[in-house]
Amino acid sequence: MNSEFRKIPSVNAILECPEVTELIEEYSHDSVTELAREVIKTTRTKVQNGGSSPQLDELALQVIKLSERRWCIWPKQVINATGVVLHTNLGRAPLSPESIEAAHRATAGYSSLEMNLDSGKRGSRQRQISENICQLTGAESALVVNNNAAAVVLGLAALSKGKEVIVSRSEAVEIGGGFRIPDVLLQSGAFLKEVGTTNRTYSTDFDNAINECTGALMSIHASNFKIVGFTHSPNIKDLSEIAKPKGIPILHDVGSGCLLDTSQFGLDAEPTPKESIDQGADVAFFSADKLLGGPQAGIIVGKTIYLDKIAKHPLARAFRIDKMNLAALNATLMHYIKNEATEKIPVWQMISASKNTLETRANHIKDKIPGPLKVETTKATIGGGSLPGNELDSIGLVIYGLSPEKISEKLRTSNRPVVGRIESDKIVLDIRTVLPDEDNDLADSIISAIR
Ligand SMILES: *Cc1c(COP(=O)(O)O)cnc(C)c1O
Repeated sequence: MNSEFRKIPSVNAILECPEVTELIEEYSHDSVTELAREVIKTTRTKVQNGGSSPQLDELALQVIKLSERRWCIWPKQVINATGVVLHTNLGRAPLSPESIEAAHRATAGYSSLEMNLDSGKRGSRQRQISENICQLTGAESALVVNNNAAAVVLGLAALSKGKEVIVSRSEAVEIGGGFRIPDVLLQSGAFLKEVGTTNRTYSTDFDNAINECTGALMSIHASNFKIVGFTHSPNIKDLSEIAKPKGIPILHDVGSGCLLDTSQFGLDAEPTPKESIDQGADVAFFSADKLLGGPQAGIIVGKTIYLDKIAKHPLARAFRIDKMNLAALNATLMHYIKNEATEKIPVWQMISASKNTLETRANHIKDKIPGPLKVETTKATIGGGSLPGNELDSIGLVIYGLSPEKISEKLRTSNRPVVGRIESDKIVLDIRTVLPDEDNDLADSIISAIR
């Protein structure tokens, strides 16, 4: 045992290996020494547990591998050929060039983030963007925070702490990623009062549950699941008829933040924040990086009396959105104001692309590739907790004759990583979610994967 310990090479010996010397030149002596120490530490533990000491060149290789994993560019750009438009693992909505430019402008130097340049006095990072959001949603006031989860927690904490919030039993749900309505309510200091049943809840259920402890009625959009069959839920208008005369606010977690009519693309109608406000929601919450097609952010809209309370709550500062996202969001909103969302916002470009266009692109790609490839009809989905069960007719490139797992791995680990999906034991690369300027890179990655 003791003798095995003595065989472990020293940190200095590792640092003197030629490959490791090169690494030191690229990074720095201190950081590479840290990695070498880490590798030695792991080796000592292994030897302690009865393993034998690896040779010097093996340890040098471990240092190189560790440096490659930890110091590579991250995140890597990925071609999304999954056919899932809003893929949370792949970063949800890609941004328009204008939004990317705005984020760059906001961060490359100093900016007018919180200064009114006319008066030279302190300004608000929210003012311009909230005016634009109000114009697009018909709300009186708006506030932007880090994400929709933060928006909901903040709204509940500011408006219903210590009070009961009435929620339909069918909506006391988990949205995903640990966001569970009952837990969120608890964390914000409100008490959940569930009414109705899992499949059917009526406005009278809400009415009967209202008492002097009621802080709000809340509705949560079923973003990523569908209850079908014998079901009923009161809509915002029904709830507002009950709550308005009693002065109780209606809170609505709208989810996706969709600002366009999705039925024009053959999809179900996704509720929009504007409809929510029109139907009588006092406060509505939604994401900016789902169907809105912007950066990560959560948007709160509604009546000024409630929004003022929310903006003044201490958690509002804790959930403050950063300038990069705010700038990108404002540029995304401008596409809606200019009525150019379907042409300029990548999420809508993908959703609105015609099958013919996709087929032409797929054939162009296929023509560059010598190999067992076919252009086939597929089904793309929205994903990201939006429009569950909805499918868009799409076009995919299918690679035949090779193990789909093997090809998938090669595509994922190629210079320009590609993520596809495996369907009926074939690998399908859905063109709908590939950005048009990625077609050449996709072809190159396929060529290298099937070689
Ligand atoms: C996605 C979603 C959330 C969480 O929004 P994030 O912006 O991801 O934090 C909350 N509620 C609903 C209904 C959602 O669909």
